[in-house]
Amino acid sequence: MEKIIEENKQGESLVLEHKTGNTKKLFIESYGCAMNFSDSEVVASILSENGFNTTQILEEADLVLVNTCSIRDKAEQTIRKRLEKYNAVKRINPKMKVGVLGCMAERLKSQFLEEEKIVDLVVGPDAYKDLPNLLAEVESGNDAINVILSKDETYGDISPVRLNSNGITALVSITRGCDNMCTFCVVPFTRGRERSREPQSIMTEITNLWNQGYKEITLLGQNVDSYLWYGGGLKKDFEKASDMQKATAVNFDTLLEMVATTFPKMRVRFSTSNPQDMHESVLHVIAKYPNICKHIHLPVQSGSDRILKEMNRLHTRAEYFDLITKIRTIIPECSISQDMIAGFPTETEQDHQDTLSLMEFVKYNFGYMYSYSERPGTLAGRKMEDDVPEETKARRLQEIVDLQQKHSWFRSEEFIGKTVEVLIEKTSKKSAAQFSGRNSQSITVVFPRENYKIGDFVNVKINTCTSGTLIGEVVGYSEMN
Ligand code: SF4
Repeated sequence: MEKIIEENKQGESLVLEHKTGNTKKLFIESYGCAMNFSDSEVVASILSENGFNTTQILEEADLVLVNTCSIRDKAEQTIRKRLEKYNAVKRINPKMKVGVLGCMAERLKSQFLEEEKIVDLVVGPDAYKDLPNLLAEVESGNDAINVILSKDETYGDISPVRLNSNGITALVSITRGCDNMCTFCVVPFTRGRERSREPQSIMTEITNLWNQGYKEITLLGQNVDSYLWYGGGLKKDFEKASDMQKATAVNFDTLLEMVATTFPKMRVRFSTSNPQDMHESVLHVIAKYPNICKHIHLPVQSGSDRILKEMNRLHTRAEYFDLITKIRTIIPECSISQDMIAGFPTETEQDHQDTLSLMEFVKYNFGYMYSYSERPGTLAGRKMEDDVPEETKARRLQEIVDLQQKHSWFRSEEFIGKTVEVLIEKTSKKSAAQFSGRNSQSITVVFPRENYKIGDFVNVKINTCTSGTLIGEVVGYSEMN
């Protein structure tokens, strides 16, 4: 693979990996969660072995792939709009083939081909290795589809081709699927049962990244805390494993410690956690190693015990408070972020007040907040009426967002006067004279670039802030450099 530096529309330098001799052009774009962005890098790798190099120019593509999200109705509407755009481009580039990947492809299956005539190819999240065969089918003039979910596919044997990469930070997937069956969520239906990736293949991928100069990795999964390798197979079949398999099983805190000790100068992040699966042992590993970032994304969705039950979230409000208190005790400098849903079916004003008071207890650093969007096929979608009026949902969501904004200010102001370690990731959007990067707590920091460069670990003294950004000046290199 040769590395090519190109600028994207935002003027940022991107590192593209191209295979010499490949002549076909792939335009791939991703929507939704980090899992989709990581999967697109697996797809780019599979296709680079079949004659494709990536391009940033849609109009010159032989193949256009969109990795879709189905988490909310709005996400699906965004994809349909993109397909209209492709329609316009196809008029000037008739040889172009169009494929849809990801969760919406898995949810709609052949319906996608019926509803969207521009689509030639529908491929679910576990079927990317079948792409070369499916493309041959399309080249012979047929539509093609594979949406079979797998019990053991982890793409652990695929070396991802980094996309839109700054050459510094990278995603490394460690699990696929989810067994939790939260009643509002499509993921268990679109990504299948939970299975973990073989540890050695994870370590090999990180070694390759380290050798290429990457400085930070994010261990990725819908539910990283339930990572469990015992020789392959589904998480739910662990009870049937042999004593030897159980004795040598690798869980999340073991994997995290393995990565942190093997690559002491590599910064380690992970996402996403589920409170019901997070063990205290992981907190002690985070506290023990300076290169594991002090940030935990801990979705809660609601502060009401009654609604948590309706959502099939297997923890109570009190248990969540206990976990927060443990995090604050074991890792005092840890930042915590949230996911929240406003207006879940049957949500009362008191349930909403419970959400606000939970936020008051935690005072999250930042969060992702949405109104409930009914998803077809989910238990809530099948059994619960979407009975909270849209204007009530909107008012409650605004109150949650406003409270989060207040808490983000509070948490950002705690950094003023402190010195934080930052990995320089890019030129600041606001000024070419400034760099930006994130501190260990995953908060964006902006500072004058001086003679430093992208990829340096620097110590920045924080002078002021906004609700979401810390502003300061470099006081020197950090020990991680
Ligand atoms: S934990 Fe719940 S919300 Fe998260 S992916 Fe799994 S089912 Fe969806």
